[in-house]
Amino acid sequence: MSTNPFIRTVIEPFIIKSVEPIQMTDQCDREAFLKKAHYNLFQIRARNVLIDLLTDSGTGAMSSEQWAAIMRGDESYAGSESFARLEATIHELFGFKHVIPTHQGRAAERILFSVMCNQGDVVPNNTHFDTTRANIEFQDAEAVDLVIPEGKDPQAIHPFKGNMDVEKLRELIEKTGPEKIPLCMMTITNNSGGGQPVSMENLKAVRKVLDKYSIPLYLDAARFAENAYFIKLREPGYENKSVQEIVREMMDISEGCTVSAKKDGLVNIGGLLCTNDDILAQKEKDLLILTEGFPTYGGLAGRDLEAMSVGFREALDEDYLKYRLAEAQYLGEHLVEIGFQIIQPPGGHAIYVDAAATLPHIPPSQYPGQTLAVEFYLAGGIRTCEIGSVMFGKTAEDGKTEIPAQMELVRFALPRRTHTQSHIDYVIEIARDVYKRKDDLTGYKIIEQPPHLRHFSAKFAPC
Ligand SMILES: *Cc1c(COP(=O)(O)O)cnc(C)c1O
Repeated sequence: MSTNPFIRTVIEPFIIKSVEPIQMTDQCDREAFLKKAHYNLFQIRARNVLIDLLTDSGTGAMSSEQWAAIMRGDESYAGSESFARLEATIHELFGFKHVIPTHQGRAAERILFSVMCNQGDVVPNNTHFDTTRANIEFQDAEAVDLVIPEGKDPQAIHPFKGNMDVEKLRELIEKTGPEKIPLCMMTITNNSGGGQPVSMENLKAVRKVLDKYSIPLYLDAARFAENAYFIKLREPGYENKSVQEIVREMMDISEGCTVSAKKDGLVNIGGLLCTNDDILAQKEKDLLILTEGFPTYGGLAGRDLEAMSVGFREALDEDYLKYRLAEAQYLGEHLVEIGFQIIQPPGGHAIYVDAAATLPHIPPSQYPGQTLAVEFYLAGGIRTCEIGSVMFGKTAEDGKTEIPAQMELVRFALPRRTHTQSHIDYVIEIARDVYKRKDDLTGYKIIEQPPHLRHFSAKFAPC
């Protein structure tokens, strides 16, 4: 994936053993599918999508070793061997004392915040992921984002745009009082900020401030392996450490973590809640039994635990990580070459295109992100995700006017080990066509919407 003759192409470090056909469609078909879906890409049947870049969550391909491990799944209700193997893997890779499986990341979040947060508490984070924020707010606590200023500026170049502003953290603790801050989270990589990494130095600085007030640090570690590889590539002193050593060092700085295994766990379903705190772990397991299941399966089948054990290890493979980051970088660089503005530098799991910059003639009230996303589907069957005023627009107090989101983005998320370079080249070709037509595109209006999370089911019409 390189146009520089002196650098060899970064090839996919795997061959394909099992294939899933995709169904070719033409623009005429897609026009009909779009009309039927009221121009909402969440309402399109997956079979009618050629390249699905809606999300990187749970959409990756498992390896032959993972499929083999699935046959080893021990489906015993209690004391499953599969759990023992997962626990041993996590003890070794992450080092936490208590390993609690959950069906996905948000289940771990719900249990963690139910046990740790009370009404009126405040939880700082670099940037809360939306389910994390929702689970904190569900406890009547407040979720505060403290990412460094560069993390909010799409064009700012900084090696660790996911870092937390340590001074702001100190101020927040002083202002709120440490007794009202039951824990601090750090999201690695910072998903909502464009998949940008957090440095080891920043994790240590955050921990140092928290230690002064005896506040525990938890990691939202969905993309722990991508973050560790960024540290290896960008942080002085880490170039000769293995990703596994770096992961262990990040985990050792914290008291525990929540993990969506649908990301760097390389599985289609699964999650983890880990902690070193015996008393908390007991409370968490008690709650787990209520909604997820017995602590040796936690809402999953034994076979899922096996696939996770293998997946967490495979995510640390540096050839895989090199290819993973190269894929995002390759797509990002080509989109920039075409003329699109993207959140710079490319993150680990996705490229975020600035739709407002591409379509300045379409105001936020006519959803430039939605317009661009619909056009990519129409032109090439490519499904992306609007992250702008459709997703985050708010109704003003008059009940009518809409307050637009901070940014109008379109996310091209890359499922793990799923697409080949020719798929990405095709995305780039379609991007070129779309860019040529950009000045002729017209916006959309919402004609029907539900009260919450409207992006999933709102109906649109062209303006
Ligand atoms: C996906 C994700 C979650 C939620 O995990 P699910 O498995 O989707 O429930 C939480 N935090 C981050 C950073 C994520 O990317």
